[in-house]
Amino acid sequence: ASTQAAKTMKGILIEKTGGTEVLQYKTDLPLPEPKEGEVLVKNDFIGINYIDTYFRTGLYTSPKPEILGKEASGIVVSPHQTTSPSFQPGDRVVWMGGSGYAEYTAAPAVRTIKIPDSISSPDACAAILQGLTALTLTEEAHAVKKGDWVLVLAASGGVGGWLCQILQAKGAHTIATVGNEAKVVVAKENGSEIVLVEGKDNIVGKVKELTGGAGVAAVFDSVGKDTFDRSLECVARKGTLASFGNSSGAVAPFSISKLSAKNVRIVRPSLFNYISTRDEFDHYANKLFKMMAEEHFKTRIHETYPLKDVARAHDDLEGRKTMGKLLMTP
Ligand code: NDP
Repeated sequence: ASTQAAKTMKGILIEKTGGTEVLQYKTDLPLPEPKEGEVLVKNDFIGINYIDTYFRTGLYTSPKPEILGKEASGIVVSPHQTTSPSFQPGDRVVWMGGSGYAEYTAAPAVRTIKIPDSISSPDACAAILQGLTALTLTEEAHAVKKGDWVLVLAASGGVGGWLCQILQAKGAHTIATVGNEAKVVVAKENGSEIVLVEGKDNIVGKVKELTGGAGVAAVFDSVGKDTFDRSLECVARKGTLASFGNSSGAVAPFSISKLSAKNVRIVRPSLFNYISTRDEFDHYANKLFKMMAEEHFKTRIHETYPLKDVARAHDDLEGRKTMGKLLMTP
């Protein structure tokens, strides 16, 4: 039967941290066994996220050897019998957890959800982690209001694309930044009102000019190290700096007394802490599915790579060559 799992599987194993050379394509990895609270899924689309590069380089630590990968879509093979809510073999699902760069994953049931019929598996996989990041950022890190001026960095990227679409739907004014001219069109398509180019435009000057000198109500900064101080300059009095990524490296320690000049609120959220319970995950995942099925929110898939080309995919992502979501097929 198609839901019968093999004994070994293909996957990407890393035994030590480093460059893309540590990503080893294996064809004889042992099949994971679902423990209590897990569902064995045969993955069909595997999502690549920037965080995968942090676990590869060692910026974030995790035990090695490790199979990277935080999300995939696929078909349920066998849920552990005590798993609740119950999944059936053959269910089409998307999950968030670990060890996704493989043919099969024992996924946490609490962050596995059935994909609505109207949404394709690649779209569900492309949307789940980055879409939920953007949703939770705009509802919990800074509850964006209609008319707010907001600054989004890397607006043609994965999370950036979702942020721009959500902010447009909320009636906010988005000022976006991108790394080069070619990315301007995509940031506009994503819904940003004004797009500025890194290294060319005076970002602080333009933000001040566009906001009558006040600055923006919120900055969503995924770039980290290179942009933190600049983002602080762009925030309005009583505004929020949501620093949620390290694409250029980790933000250096800083003195909190810097915040008092404008009573700035700083948040440094992690998606997993917004969706750690079944209720939280369902709430945001169902909201995201509704946005995709009924409200014209779109995924933008940069490329679907074969699993064995994972090194090229990481190089493209870290080399700022991508616009949208990177997927792999096992
Ligand atoms: P992106 O598609 O945004 O790719 C990264 C982009 O960052 C690049 O395309 C580039 O865009 C920009 N960038 C700016 N400076 C650099 C640099 N020095 N090196 C590389 N890229 C740079 O990736 P994702 O959507 O997967 O992730 C975006 C960010 O959000 C990451 O930092 C990630 O860690 C973070 N994140 C955080 C989560 C959380 O829970 N806190 C959850 C999900 C993502 P450009 O050329 O246009 O500047």
